[in-house]
Amino acid sequence: MTKDTKITFYGGIHEIGGNKFLVEDKGTRIFLDFGMQMGKVNDYFSEFLKPRALNGMGDLFEFGLLPKLKGLYRQDYAKHMGFGGKEETAFDALVLTHAHVDHAAYIHYLRPDIPVYCSEATKLILQGIEDTGGKDDYLTFKHNFRIYENKKGEMSRGKGEDYQEPRKISVFENAKKFSIDSIEVEPLAVDHSLPGVTGIILHTSKGSIGYTADIRYHGRRASDTERFVERCGNSDIDVLLCEGTRVEETFSATEFSVEQDVKTIVNKTKGLVVCTYPTRDLDRLLSFYNAAKESERDLVIDLKQAYLLKLFQTSDQWKNVFPKPDDKRIKVYLPRKSWGLVGRDDISRYWTEKQLLQDYDVWEREFVDYGNAVNYRDVSGKQKNYIFYCNDYQLQQLIDVRPIEGSSYIRSQTEPFDDEMELKEERVKRWIEHFGLITSEKDWIHTHVSGHGSGDQIKKVIEGTDAKSLVPIHTEHEEYHRKWHDNVVNAQWNGSIAL
Ligand SMILES: [Zn+2]
Repeated sequence: MTKDTKITFYGGIHEIGGNKFLVEDKGTRIFLDFGMQMGKVNDYFSEFLKPRALNGMGDLFEFGLLPKLKGLYRQDYAKHMGFGGKEETAFDALVLTHAHVDHAAYIHYLRPDIPVYCSEATKLILQGIEDTGGKDDYLTFKHNFRIYENKKGEMSRGKGEDYQEPRKISVFENAKKFSIDSIEVEPLAVDHSLPGVTGIILHTSKGSIGYTADIRYHGRRASDTERFVERCGNSDIDVLLCEGTRVEETFSATEFSVEQDVKTIVNKTKGLVVCTYPTRDLDRLLSFYNAAKESERDLVIDLKQAYLLKLFQTSDQWKNVFPKPDDKRIKVYLPRKSWGLVGRDDISRYWTEKQLLQDYDVWEREFVDYGNAVNYRDVSGKQKNYIFYCNDYQLQQLIDVRPIEGSSYIRSQTEPFDDEMELKEERVKRWIEHFGLITSEKDWIHTHVSGHGSGDQIKKVIEGTDAKSLVPIHTEHEEYHRKWHDNVVNAQWNGSIAL
């Protein structure tokens, strides 16, 4: 095993997302993030053409979408596909900056004995995703391809759920250093479109590495970004891995201006306000919540958001930052699901409460009894009292709710950046138009700020960190980094740079 200190880039180079950076120092090997290369993965796979579990990592290896490294991947897959699996783990840790798929999705493929280090909020979000029905397993490892002896003494196939164990998740505290063998890790919160995002400084035997994660100054947590940059500036950083998703942009509005836009529209609306925003961007949820408070409306959230807010109540650090799921300005929406019994008059006469509960998944059922649970009849009957969250996968609820004249729609998420997203948005527009939420006089209302800083902000990060060399990551426009730093090192996909 090499004893050199170096960084190898298995994704996140000349592309947005897919960060998988292996840092090696005196035989210690840790990954910074282990995400999906969304762009490259979409070149080969789609919703209906997925990598097959039966082939383990093989379908992703085929196109170079996962690095072929022994001792890294889950042994059940590795053995099943004939890619080793009996060897000791050769990796000491994954340090995770945040819970977005382009940084975290491929945890699924990792061995469960590799410890994952992340912030408390990151852990809570991953738990939310896992518990609320996504197929992604982040915190729990479910063994696949297990054979067991059944009652008749026959060998039978086991189910993953029957053979599960928690992954080794270690929660780090902001600004509190810890060591992984020869490497000292300094996690520092930064501002991005998700709670708990963390920039990282690694102190190795040959020098220091800074990693911005995804970063901006225009959200609710600009002072976090300032502290991260200042700390880098005082840390004699040798190599800075600096994102540049929106580096070619010259302007960013702020989260506070989004909140103001929402307030203006809500105050002008006489009927129902229908809105969508990224499900787990709780700072955006706050913008809508604050607008609801000001206009004396209630914010009607979906079950996944209610579940996430409930999880955040378990954290001393976060419980006063975001509203409780039973806050007096929050309502939890019970959609019609399965047999669609919610809101029917014949509940208790013909259908029982138990049958109603059966419409919902187990994790959803506790919310049915919440005092602030509402259904389509409640929302439909008092439209001017509500801001109603309805994302692109929940549009059928508009058929139940039936927005009245004078209702509006606020779209508060990223604009489409490829043909597929363009087509999806056209479909959403048709629904919104159908329900009279946009008309020839009333346009599509879009208010959003990105999780990523514009060029001026990235320049500020680069200047403030004052690193000896700079590697552009998470960007398709390295030329800007070159303009702002005179020692830009060109990393290649699967290539290394030495410290
Ligand atoms: Zn992100």
